[in-house]
Amino acid sequence: MTVVQSPRILIVGGGIGGLTLGAQLAQRGFHAHIVEKTPQWAPTGAGIILGINAMRIMENLGITDALLERGMLAGDTAITDSRGRILSSINMTALSKELGPSISIHRADLHDVLVTANASNTLRLDTTLRDLLQGKDETNVTFSDGSTSTYDLVIGADGLRSQVRDMIFGTTKYHYSGYTCWRFVVEGMPHIKRVQEMWGRGRRVGVVPIGGGKVYSFTTLNTSQGNPEMKNISVEKYKSIFGHFEGHVPEMLSQITEPTQLIHNDLEEIRLPSWTHGPIGLLGDAAHAMTPNMGQGAAMAIEDAFVLAELLEAGGDMSKILTAYEARRRPRVTWVQQQSWRIGKVAQWESAVGCAVRNLAMKCTPDKVSETSLRKLLVQSI
Ligand SMILES: Cc1cc2nc3c(=O)[nH]c(=O)nc-3n(C[C@H](O)[C@H](O)[C@H](O)COP(=O)(O)OP(=O)(O)OC[C@H]3O[C@@H](n4cnc5c(N)ncnc54)[C@H](O)[C@@H]3O)c2cc1C
Repeated sequence: MTVVQSPRILIVGGGIGGLTLGAQLAQRGFHAHIVEKTPQWAPTGAGIILGINAMRIMENLGITDALLERGMLAGDTAITDSRGRILSSINMTALSKELGPSISIHRADLHDVLVTANASNTLRLDTTLRDLLQGKDETNVTFSDGSTSTYDLVIGADGLRSQVRDMIFGTTKYHYSGYTCWRFVVEGMPHIKRVQEMWGRGRRVGVVPIGGGKVYSFTTLNTSQGNPEMKNISVEKYKSIFGHFEGHVPEMLSQITEPTQLIHNDLEEIRLPSWTHGPIGLLGDAAHAMTPNMGQGAAMAIEDAFVLAELLEAGGDMSKILTAYEARRRPRVTWVQQQSWRIGKVAQWESAVGCAVRNLAMKCTPDKVSETSLRKLLVQSI
């Protein structure tokens, strides 16, 4: 067993998971190298909700106020039908008072705050991997600029299409959810206060105020994987798919004039038999990308980062730390991933009869039932 006192740590990927890990490590006196393939810190994506569990970890990093300054407290949330009639709701205001805040924020702002929290780490943009040569206790890395370094621990926090994952496990299967997604942010809508997810037939629209009068929307549609018509969608076609949704949707869609305002991607999941290989490990979407139906993908990456940093602080052999990390994280992450997949299946039902039955069943189910499931997630230790 090789116990390293001040491990040389490489984090591949400066997304939410990689930067949270870097910040957690910095707080515990470690120094990490983080490489990010994009030439500038310009995270794709629109808005995001950080659930109460994710915010507890942000609070531990001392960045809650910085996040609240840029985003906003996520208030009460409702699932409605496409006309805006409430099917179920959660009193997030009461839940937050009891268990702590949840926030909604633009991803660029979240990123900014996380980059600042990594001031003592070494961050390299426009850098990716050319090669990984794994030994028993250390890994020799060649970067895309030809430079080389040796690390005691390498963490692939490089997202859904992880290069580190491909390097250690070979090509991975992507499990397509059956629906595709577009996201956008519109401005000048301070009157929209409530987080709302509107369920139609085979399609959904999310409405999420993120502060400063900005509103983030996600929209989903049942379609085949990689459908080129969806990838290259025109504004007219897009509006024809979601134009019949009521409530705030028409005024939000009226701000969409160019297809470049829409961020499009198919929703896929990653299921791996293992997240670690000797002193190399995966974190966040690289290990367990999930559908966004519980709004927990980033929260799981953030929790991964916290747990891994805690185990590193306790010390020990790197491979054993990674084994312990996976053992601790996998049951909870798998539960969330499976729940999210199941919710998505029902939410994307398409038949008129099926949707009518679903909506009636939701209306008849006490709100306490959805709150109980959320509580289970929030009170479980990580
Ligand atoms: C429509 C939608 C809505 C969502 N909403 C929510 C929500 O409300 N709440 C929530 O908790 N989660 C949500 N998620 C999930 C969340 O976005 C992801 O789970 C989260 O971003 C994962 O973080 P990550 O750091 O693992 O990966 P990423 O955020 O993908 O970051 C990976 C980083 O690695 C970089 N990178 C990639 N390859 C390389 C390489 N080879 N070398 C160097 N760098 C590399 C990328 O540029 C990127 O910066 C949503 C997802 C979707 C699709």
